Amino acid sequence: MTEISDDILAAIEQAIGPAGAPVPLHEPEFGAADRTAVQDCLTSGWVSSAGPYVERFEEALAEVTAARHVVAVVNGTAALHICLRLAGVRPGDEVLMPSLTFVASANAVSYCDAVAHFVDSDPERLAIDPDALAAYLETVCEDTPEGTVNRMTGRSIRALLAVHVLGVPADMAALQELAAHYRLALVEDAAESLGSYFAGRHTGTFGIAGALSFNGNKVITTGGGGAVLIDDSEIAAYARHLTTTARREGGVGFVHDEVGFNYRLPGLNAALGRAQLDSLGDQLARKRKLAERYRAAFGSVDGATLVAEPADGSSNHWLNGVMLDAADPMLRDQVIETTNAAGYLTRPAWTPMHLLPMYRDCPRMALPGAERIFASLLCLPSSARLAAA
Ligand SMILES: *Cc1c(COP(=O)(O)O)cnc(C)c1O
Repeated sequence: MTEISDDILAAIEQAIGPAGAPVPLHEPEFGAADRTAVQDCLTSGWVSSAGPYVERFEEALAEVTAARHVVAVVNGTAALHICLRLAGVRPGDEVLMPSLTFVASANAVSYCDAVAHFVDSDPERLAIDPDALAAYLETVCEDTPEGTVNRMTGRSIRALLAVHVLGVPADMAALQELAAHYRLALVEDAAESLGSYFAGRHTGTFGIAGALSFNGNKVITTGGGGAVLIDDSEIAAYARHLTTTARREGGVGFVHDEVGFNYRLPGLNAALGRAQLDSLGDQLARKRKLAERYRAAFGSVDGATLVAEPADGSSNHWLNGVMLDAADPMLRDQVIETTNAAGYLTRPAWTPMHLLPMYRDCPRMALPGAERIFASLLCLPSSARLAAA
C-alpha cells in the first residue's frame, strides 16, 4: 500500500538476503571455545563469585576498554545503580538523563531514591543534545555553595547520565564540559556500546564510572551480566565493597559496614564472558560490514535515512537504526508490520521515559528530539552472522 514499507523491505532483503526462518533483531553467538570455558568452570567448582574466573574476565575487559578498573556485576542495571552510587547520588537528588533510553537507566536512578530529570536527545546521534541541554541548564540551574540546585524544585542536581544509544557514541566532549561547568558527576550508560569509541577513547570511561551490559541481546553475552568501568583506585575499591554486601575484608567474622548489595557476577557467567571477548574483534568487523551493506541498500530509499556513525567517534553497530523522514507513528508501525510479516523482526525505539506512568511527573525540559526519534526510528536485524549472507 505505502511505497515506503515496500522500499524498506526491499532494502533489508538486499542487505541481508531472504528471510527463511524469522530473522531476529540480535542473536548471541556461541562457539566451541565458549562451551569449553563454561565446562572448565563447572569442573573447577568455582561457579559463584569467588575464584579466578571473575578476575580473569575483569582483566580482559580492562584490556579491551583501557579502563583502569573493572568490577563485574550481575547485570547492566545493577552496574548503573552502582555507577550512580559512586557518583554520590543521594536520596532526593536529581539526575539529568535522556528521556529516550531503556527503562533501566531511569530505574537505576529510582533505586537511589533519586529523581530522574529528563533532557532531550539529538535525532541524528540518538543521544543527549548538548546544545539544547546547555541552553536549558542556563535557565534551570542555580549555583549554590552545596552545588548545583534546580531552581524550580529546590533539589540538588547531582549527576549527568549519558547514554550511548544503539552503540552510537554520544558527544562526550560537550557533555564533559557541561558536567564540569555545572559541577555534575558524569556517569555513562554504555550498556549497548562495548567496542564504541568517542575521540579514540572507549565509551564508559569518560566520567566517574560507566556501565556495560552482557545481556543475551548485547554484543557479547554472559547470559546475564554487567560491569562497572572506573578510573580511580579508591572508587574502584569502594565499588567492590558495595557489590559484595559491604563486608569488611580481613578478620574471620562477618562485619558489614553499610547496607551493601549482592551484585557480583558469578564465575560461571564470567567464564563465558572471558571466552566471548576473544571473538569481539571478529564480531565487530562483521557488524561493520553489515552496517555497510545496509548503507548501500538504503542509499536508494526515499523517505528514510540510516543512523550514521558520527565523524568524531566509532560505533560498534550494535543495532542498525533507520529514521523515517516523517514523524508518523502510524507509518512507523506499518513499516514494522510489513517487515515482521516478511520475517524480518524490526522494532521501534523505546517509549520515552516521560511517557511512562511512573516517570510522567518527573522534571523535564522540552523533548522534541526524543519524541521525534520515538515517532520515526526503526531498529533493523543486526546480528553479526547476517554479514555472511
Ligand atoms: C541493556 C541495557 C541496560 C540494562 O542492562 P541489563 O543487563 O539488561 O540489566 C541499560 N541501559 C541500556 C541502554 C540497555 O540497552
